Amino acid sequence: MTVKKFLLLSTLSLLFIPAFGNGYTPRVTIIATGGTIAGIAPSSAGTFYDPAQLTVGALMEQVPEIRSKASITGIQLCNIASQHMTTEIWIRLASVIDSLFSNDLCDGIVVTHGTDTMEETAFFLNLVVPHDKPVVLTGSMRPSNALGADGPANLYNAVCLAASPAARDKGVMAVMNDYIFAAAEFTKTHTVNPHAFESPGRGPLGIIRGGIPVFFRDPGPMHTVHSEFSIKHLHGTDLPPVGIVLSYAGASAVPVEALIASGVEGIVVAGVGHGNYSLEIEAAIPGIIARGVLIVRATRILCGGVASDVESPFEGQLTSGLLSPQKVRILLMVALTRYRDPDNLQRIIDGYQ
Ligand code: GLU
Repeated sequence: MTVKKFLLLSTLSLLFIPAFGNGYTPRVTIIATGGTIAGIAPSSAGTFYDPAQLTVGALMEQVPEIRSKASITGIQLCNIASQHMTTEIWIRLASVIDSLFSNDLCDGIVVTHGTDTMEETAFFLNLVVPHDKPVVLTGSMRPSNALGADGPANLYNAVCLAASPAARDKGVMAVMNDYIFAAAEFTKTHTVNPHAFESPGRGPLGIIRGGIPVFFRDPGPMHTVHSEFSIKHLHGTDLPPVGIVLSYAGASAVPVEALIASGVEGIVVAGVGHGNYSLEIEAAIPGIIARGVLIVRATRILCGGVASDVESPFEGQLTSGLLSPQKVRILLMVALTRYRDPDNLQRIIDGYQ
């Protein structure tokens, strides 16, 4: 099915027209992808559940309050646990968002998503969605029928944010547990608690209270409409392959060699401390760069990032700045669609923090 036909069918089947007084009614489209917010547990008091069970229509019915904030349209893009997210789905999601905004079909978009890879999807969209209208990701840590389910409040907050003129030109954001996070900055820091996201070292962009967003500051400048990358120019359904390797005490270089054998164009090393490697990985790096594979020095540490003044620097290395290994990997994949030379790639990495 073409993106256009898909949008039309989804829109017709799920349109809700709320009763508003005078004045403009914002139009918000909810794009559902799955996750715990759509999960169902066999017992509301238990800890086991199946993610990605409810459809977008069911999610919307759970929170009728959203219809007092906007006219709501729902689209079911996929229904997966987000550990199964792929670059192919990212490209499809970004294309649907681009199409909705380019055809002026909505004023803001909420993407419901599993929390495991929400930070990655948000960052990809932040790089390639060429619009300044709000795109807000949300999810939940407890399934839809759990005691104290957090999904409904998160969805309500996300719709409030996506419908708000104050959210324009803030880049792609995530909303969880009343906090607003910038796509480049946040990461999942708890495996089960409803307060699962943080922006280490930088803090949230703002909060939502009583449905009103309050911003403390702006995100970094290079996002969405300001990005030099756009889904309109990404051809095909995949991106140049880049892998991640973790360093630790005594880490072997075998995973690095295995990634190269698989055909990656770049490797992000999540180093220890300020981007440092084990002896074996360190010894392998110059030979890897000589073979034309890019290396990005990143860190497994949450705060501080990796600047160019690392110990044992080597010719041709790239450094991640404040981006996490998983985010600098995405940026490198996107940047490789346009550049190969280290100077331009480092310029891109430094610019999209
Ligand atoms: N692992 C599932 C996912 O990421 C559930 C996690 C969540 O949504 O919180 O979709």
